[in-house]
Amino acid sequence: MTEYLTYRCNECGSDNVEYSAYVQWDLGSQRWEIYEQVDDSGYCFKCGSYTDINEEVVTSLKEIAQITIAQQERNHDISNG
Ligand SMILES: [Zn+2]
Repeated sequence: MTEYLTYRCNECGSDNVEYSAYVQWDLGSQRWEIYEQVDDSGYCFKCGSYTDINEEVVTSLKEIAQITIAQQERNHDISNG
């Protein structure tokens, strides 16, 4: 089974977190690719503060279902141009 990753706030466990980063356009992949992370610490919107962010494997069946639905919708969009 495929393992999915999530990132959670070290303080409260929320996944409503971000890192700031610089991105650079990549012609080959047709995407903005991250080339430098700006902040060493992440930001948690729930705590409203800069904090450590932990990488975790998703084990919640609800979250796995949400990922599966999002991936199917993305594939549907691509196949329909
Ligand atoms: Zn938090």
